[in-house]
Amino acid sequence: MIRLKRRKFLFLSTGFVIFGVKNLMAIEKLKLSDTEWRSRLTEEEYYILRQHGTERPGFSVLNNEKRKGIYQCVGCDLPLFSSDMKYDSGTGWPSFFDYLPNSLGFKNDFKLVIPRKEYHCAKCGGHHGHVFKDGPEPTGLRYCNNGITLNFIPD
Ligand SMILES: [Zn+2]
Repeated sequence: MIRLKRRKFLFLSTGFVIFGVKNLMAIEKLKLSDTEWRSRLTEEEYYILRQHGTERPGFSVLNNEKRKGIYQCVGCDLPLFSSDMKYDSGTGWPSFFDYLPNSLGFKNDFKLVIPRKEYHCAKCGGHHGHVFKDGPEPTGLRYCNNGITLNFIPD
């Protein structure tokens, strides 16, 4: 009886692991110590990526970036957005209505009274911004990203 239960548990956990790996498309996680992050990033990058900070609106030159290309995570170079997903939200932060498959992870942020959904890089876990439900079609979502945490690579 105990043996049967254990077998069922093993089966379930194996299924869960396979599902998880498939969902993440085998993105290898980048794990560094706090000291390594501090030496790898500038002070501003560290503040936003590792301490969930936010740059002031209108700060980033990427607000006006209109060329074709890819936006990568400044912490680990993982491509997060393409220029086809960018739009002018008028908020003062680079905004996108979608992200590249498997590039982001999400969790609820309870820092303000109304919970917001924060997102982070799927590879290094670095904080990038928040997602809101006031974006344009086809998703209706606005990924409000800090410009400091993105590297733009033109085509
Ligand atoms: Zn990253």
